[in-house]
Amino acid sequence: MTAPDLFDTHAHLHFPEFAADLDAVLARAREAGVRRILTIGTDVSTSRAAAAMAARIPDVWAAVGIHPHEAAEADDAALAEIERLASEPRVVAIGETGLDFFRNLSPRDAQERAFRSQLALARRAEKPVLVHCRDAHEETLQLIGEVDVRAAGGIMHCFSGDVGIARRCLDLGLLVSLAGPVTYPKPGALPEVARFVPGDRLVLETDCPFLPPQPHRGKRNEPAYLAITAARVAELRGEPLADLAARMSENARTLFAL
Ligand SMILES: [Zn+2]
Ligand SMILES: [Zn+2]
Repeated sequence: MTAPDLFDTHAHLHFPEFAADLDAVLARAREAGVRRILTIGTDVSTSRAAAAMAARIPDVWAAVGIHPHEAAEADDAALAEIERLASEPRVVAIGETGLDFFRNLSPRDAQERAFRSQLALARRAEKPVLVHCRDAHEETLQLIGEVDVRAAGGIMHCFSGDVGIARRCLDLGLLVSLAGPVTYPKPGALPEVARFVPGDRLVLETDCPFLPPQPHRGKRNEPAYLAITAARVAELRGEPLADLAARMSENARTLFAL
């Protein structure tokens, strides 16, 4: 059986968790059908590392941005460096950015300021924006609506809302991305969301090393496990895995112009 054509739209491959065995991780990903991986920066230094990794590994591309947890560090110099990195050849998106009112590791006003700045940066750079949102859907969708990202689009990554929130994300021009939690025994509204989102607006991700799908919970996640999430989403939608995977990959390639 040939492996499905998968695109991991959200990984942190340049994080220290992968430093010791990156080649083996990439080999397992390729074997599982993961042909393309987007590795995501979360602050200036990890954004530099993401861009550098994309420059040397042919099936890896990068996104650069400042995560809401790090928003307190998003001063003018940091944002200027993100903007400079955004123009590097294999950097295809801005993020991750957004709001996280669950952990509140940076003050809310700092998160909102950093998010607003990066939404504007994505518009200037004409690149899609990768949005992280936890317990902050109202505020997040409001800011996205104010800036209007529809021209270059973006992704609501690791979607955690319900069908109503998914509909609003689509209306704002975002794709919806499903991650490991759709495979959990208590997936909340995610199965319904998986069936609701039109096939041309859905993408898949691991968010590795975090959030492994069900059989690997408690361990490090890696891009190869995207196949498990894809199989579950295909089952929920009643579509053959190969068709679903190819379609999700095409959605991501279109968004990132690959
Ligand atoms: Zn995130
Ligand atoms: Zn992430």
